[in-house]
This record gives sequence, structure tokens and C-alpha cells, in this order.
Amino acid sequence: MSATPSVSYHGFKQYEFDYPTVILFGLVTTGAVIGLPTFAYFYDYSWVDWTMFGILYIVTGLGITVGYHRLLAHRSFTCPDWVKGALLIAGGWALENSALKWVADHIRHHARCDQEEDPYNAQRGFWYSHCGWLFWKDPYRNEKFASRLKRDPVVMWQDRYYIPIVLSGLALPFVVGFLHDGWIGGLGCFLLAGIGRVFFVLNSTFCINSICHLWGKQPHGTLDSSRDSWWISLITFGEGYHNYHHMYQSDYRNGPKWYNFDPSKWLIYSLSLIGLASELRRAS
Ligand SMILES: [Zn+2]
Ligand SMILES: [Zn+2]
Repeated sequence: MSATPSVSYHGFKQYEFDYPTVILFGLVTTGAVIGLPTFAYFYDYSWVDWTMFGILYIVTGLGITVGYHRLLAHRSFTCPDWVKGALLIAGGWALENSALKWVADHIRHHARCDQEEDPYNAQRGFWYSHCGWLFWKDPYRNEKFASRLKRDPVVMWQDRYYIPIVLSGLALPFVVGFLHDGWIGGLGCFLLAGIGRVFFVLNSTFCINSICHLWGKQPHGTLDSSRDSWWISLITFGEGYHNYHHMYQSDYRNGPKWYNFDPSKWLIYSLSLIGLASELRRAS
């Protein structure tokens, strides 16, 4: 990847536009902001659509937080390959890139936090760290952050089949809606539990990179801009305790106290009780 810095933006270098990502992001956002309410005005959504929205929000959100983030990026626990594969299919449905790319970016975020090489550098402001960073080709993508991942056959399998995995995650709500109520049912379920769900899960993940690096408390350390926001945990399955996470990255918990709302740690702990996760790492 050899994008050349061209113009300056608030003192930071600017890079080449990433047109395919901009178009995809535009389609999802337009579908969610205009398509979703338009369909509701003419047809309304059924209980099947809302149920599928809830199930897929939870499944794909946990795919990102437990699979991409805590398992692959931070190796905070281990699990059998088939569990890893299932988590990576769920994470792939979130349309946040293949695990190979997402995790390499995230390892670099921790290694270069708040610096020019930080892929979602919050020093460049809210919108850049929230979603603006997606719109430019990143010249700092470095193979060294992906080398460990490239030795993992499950990660490479998910990367190879990423497009079919994404398409299956969008086809699933259409098929369920179609079986319930024909073509209009299929369209409604696709819009709400496919496009709308992708939009909301994307933005909940983005909040970690923007809000959790700009606003909130820093009870665990001030080495970087990471912050704890308990209310962000409510929509991100526990990832809002981001200051703790940055200070104790390999802890399988982001909210370490028993009363912290952290469904991702509850899932990992539950998997360990039935023998599907082991070597859970804790900082204390
Ligand atoms: Zn992390
Ligand atoms: Zn962070």
C-alpha cells in the first residue's frame, strides 16, 4: 500500500481517497437513514424483523468484541478452532473488514496510540476517529502487525471467504423475512436486520475509537487518551471500559468489577465453564 500524503488537514497529513470503502459506507448509511424510515412509512416492520434485528445485533456485535478483539487482537483466552471459526463468521457479518485486516489495524492502534500511525487517531478529532479514517488509504499498514495472524489458518480461511461470509449475513434476514411474508417481508427484514443492523453495529464500534478516546474518566492510567464510558458499554457489549482495556490489554475482561456491564466477558467466562474456552487471562 503506497498512498502518498497530499494535502494537510489541521496539521495532519491527508491521503488518497479510498473510493470503494466510501461508496460502501455511503450505501449502508443511506439505506439506514433513508431506506429504513421510508419502508416503515409504507409497510412497517413485523415482529420477525425486530427479532432478527435483535439477534443479529447481539451475534455480530459479540463476533467483533469476543472474536476479533479479545480472542485475536489480545489473545486474552484460547478456544477450539471451530469456536474461533464461528466467532469469525459472526464478526465477518458486521462488515468491519476481515479479521486479518481489522486485528492488524487494532494491534497498531494500541502500539501507536494517539500518533500519526494510529489508524483511528483521536487527536484528529471526533469525526476522523469515528468514521473519517475509513475514507482514506492508510499508508501505515505494516505487515509486521499481521505476521502473527498470517500463521493462523482459521484467520486466513476467514480472510479468503470474507465476501461470501458478508453476503450470507445479509441474505439470512432476507430469507427469514421472505419465508414469513413473501417479497415485502424479505425486503423489510433485509432493511432492518441486514442494512440497519450493520449501520448500528458499525457505529457502536466506532464509538469506542471516538467517544472512548475523547470523553470519560481515566481511573487506570493516563499513558494515552483512552477513557472509560460505562454507558458506551451498554451498546458495545462491555467495551466502553476502554481506559482499563488500554492499561491491561490482555485481560479477557474490559470491565473488571463484577457489576461492570460486560457481556463479552460473561460470554467468555460461560464458554470456559462448558470447556469451550481456556487460559482466560486476568491482570489481577
Ligand atoms: Zn484492544
Ligand atoms: Zn483505543
